[in-house]
Amino acid sequence: MEDCLFCKIIKKKIPASTVYEDERIVAFNDINPQAPVHILLIPKEHYASLNDIPEEKKDILSHLLLKAREIAREKKIAGKGYRIVLNTARESGQEVFHIHFHLLGGRQMTWPPG
Ligand code: 5GP
Ligand code: ZN
Repeated sequence: MEDCLFCKIIKKKIPASTVYEDERIVAFNDINPQAPVHILLIPKEHYASLNDIPEEKKDILSHLLLKAREIAREKKIAGKGYRIVLNTARESGQEVFHIHFHLLGGRQMTWPPG
């Protein structure tokens, strides 16, 4: 999608610190990290949010989640704990409207989230 920041990252028009990439997804470090590990995982196909993922594309969600788990293992935070966040639409705090999972870890998290 033309005006989408994360589509520009996928097309390498904007640089990002890429952690993982395959034919379907990209993972890269968040530009404004909220934890020692803060990685965003996105599908290469543009969907604005979870609300926009069609039923027939549901496999992309498990691929993103299991890759987040794999990266957590690689980053040595899997055992201690990590948080995966999927902000969806405005009241959640979603700011970039290309669906993305946040993988956060490396510090004690608090609950409830803000
Ligand atoms: P949201 O609030 O939409 O769930 O999260 C958007 C995330 O994208 C934020 O954590 C923000 O720091 C990150 N972000 C925004 N612009 C850029 C960018 O240009 N590069 C990278 N790597 N992350 C970005
Ligand atoms: Zn996009």
